[in-house]
Amino acid sequence: MKIFEPQTLKALKERTARDGSPVLSVYLNIDPSVPVNARGGYKTLLNNMLEKIEETLKNDDDLMDHFEEDSKWIKSKVEHLIPSGKTYVAFCDVSEDFYYEEELPIRLASAVYYEDTPYVRPLLEAMDEYERYGIVLLDSEKARFFVVTMGQIEEIEDAINIPPIRHRKRSGTDHMRSQMVFQRRAEKWSSWFLKDVSERLRDLTKEYDTSNLVLMGPQEVTAELYRLLPKSLQDKVVDRIRMPVKAKASEVLETLLPVIEKRERTIEIQTVEDLITSANKSSGKALLGLNPVISAINQGRVYLLVYSSGFTVSGFYCPNCEVILDHGPESEKCPYCQHKMEKTDDLVWLASEKVLTSNGKIEEVRSEEAKKKLDSYGHIGAFLR
Ligand SMILES: [Zn+2]
Repeated sequence: MKIFEPQTLKALKERTARDGSPVLSVYLNIDPSVPVNARGGYKTLLNNMLEKIEETLKNDDDLMDHFEEDSKWIKSKVEHLIPSGKTYVAFCDVSEDFYYEEELPIRLASAVYYEDTPYVRPLLEAMDEYERYGIVLLDSEKARFFVVTMGQIEEIEDAINIPPIRHRKRSGTDHMRSQMVFQRRAEKWSSWFLKDVSERLRDLTKEYDTSNLVLMGPQEVTAELYRLLPKSLQDKVVDRIRMPVKAKASEVLETLLPVIEKRERTIEIQTVEDLITSANKSSGKALLGLNPVISAINQGRVYLLVYSSGFTVSGFYCPNCEVILDHGPESEKCPYCQHKMEKTDDLVWLASEKVLTSNGKIEEVRSEEAKKKLDSYGHIGAFLR
């Protein structure tokens, strides 16, 4: 999986509509840790979603042919997919030779669109939600740049190198003099170099929209670079870490992940504490516990669903009006539309799917401390719109 770049998104977003030639956009939950997916359930889901679109096209033969071509391509891709990420994203317009596919390490709601242009809104929102880290890895002569987001790293291709300083040997006092000149020149070079790095870092922050920076390299070099950074960049620096400049990108990522996890843990704790405080105030802005959360979801009122990782509970859903219930009605009939309700082993999964589909967000709480806290308040809660 490559890091998802703002440029890719921009290109997708700016793709102009071709007359009579819509683009098929697919978002598919393929997370192999979900039991139904392990059995290939995402293929069935894709087929169902594609069929729904087909229904809407059946009066237009040309468009139907066009669609069949595109859906055939997607189906064959998904058929042979060995999921490694959580969401499979694809856009295609076979007639225009336009193909794009990617697996993302994050969860987006499953959906299919057939519109004039690629449907990129879920990607836009994900970009917005996941913190992006800009990394500079340097020593006194070379600087490399990386961007990390969604657990992935990418090296930006233009490293900065300091031009080599020539040092001519001379004898006696001349030598002393030349030594001093060399020293001074070296200091000057080095401060120019670090200023260059600082400027590149500023551009990178803008270009890749990074909200955090990490400086990596020998202690004295990262300290000096930090001192030279403008205040606005200093504020973004979350850590300085020792690291050899020749390190592999994978090593940089490995070193960085604990830093990122620590930040995420802090954010998780904060979110859970806010949730509890807010729900206890009965302000109408937040809820705790399965039953009230499920009914808020059915009403489309949930803005952010928060639940402990691993929390599962069985429940019921109506295949007709998509209502979900934690307790099945005695008659087995949907209380809203009278359709027969189906049983599900994982109501939390359906609940989060429903929240994502209604443009809400989900936060799966993973860290022990935050989880323990949330578990003592019923494992699940929600902030309301
Ligand atoms: Zn119903």
